[in-house]
Amino acid sequence: MTLEVDVSGLEREVGGEIGFKVAGPAPEEAGSGGQRWGPVKVEGRAIWTGSTVLVLGRASATAELTCSRCLDDYTLPVLAEFSQEYRLADSGSGPAQPDPQGTGRDRRDTGRTATRRSGGPTPGDPASPEDAATDEEPLPFSGDTIDLAGPVWESLLLELPMKPVCDERCPGLCPVCGAKHGETTCGCRVETADPRLMSLKTLLETKERGD
Ligand SMILES: [Zn+2]
Ligand SMILES: [Zn+2]
Repeated sequence: MTLEVDVSGLEREVGGEIGFKVAGPAPEEAGSGGQRWGPVKVEGRAIWTGSTVLVLGRASATAELTCSRCLDDYTLPVLAEFSQEYRLADSGSGPAQPDPQGTGRDRRDTGRTATRRSGGPTPGDPASPEDAATDEEPLPFSGDTIDLAGPVWESLLLELPMKPVCDERCPGLCPVCGAKHGETTCGCRVETADPRLMSLKTLLETKERGD
């Protein structure tokens, strides 16, 4: 199976709607951030708006990530909702028309999901800058098949944590010997880097010397 929706049963009149469930393997580009993905399932609705097909979907998959603290691999279930418009590309008359007018209307109603743009760019963020623009223009489709791969993987990648952590309580690795804290008690003394504590320590040591 692939992430393609057969819309041959979709009535081409305003309000025509079909539900779908599709599944498929992760495309290669989905792992560009270093994570590995299991198969993805997508379900949702395709709605004929008059000039486009609006797809509202929910994708679920599991990503295998590496914990940023202890460096263990762990599996994270990822859920993402997306909405994407598709425009029928006229067969025979070249590529889809860019639609100079009017796609700005009807935007409020979809409860658009891609709102995680706060926080600004982060070094090493696997999300590419292009996804700021892609969900604005309808994607072309032809025949009776709509390919969901683009919006599905974009939305899933947006749900990945910037700093993956296997568990909120993950104690990480000992900075001295590299042992995993919580599994072993290595007994290393970890020097604190907090300057306030350092000056307190100096004070105590001075007192011990009896000045
Ligand atoms: Zn961890
Ligand atoms: Zn240690």
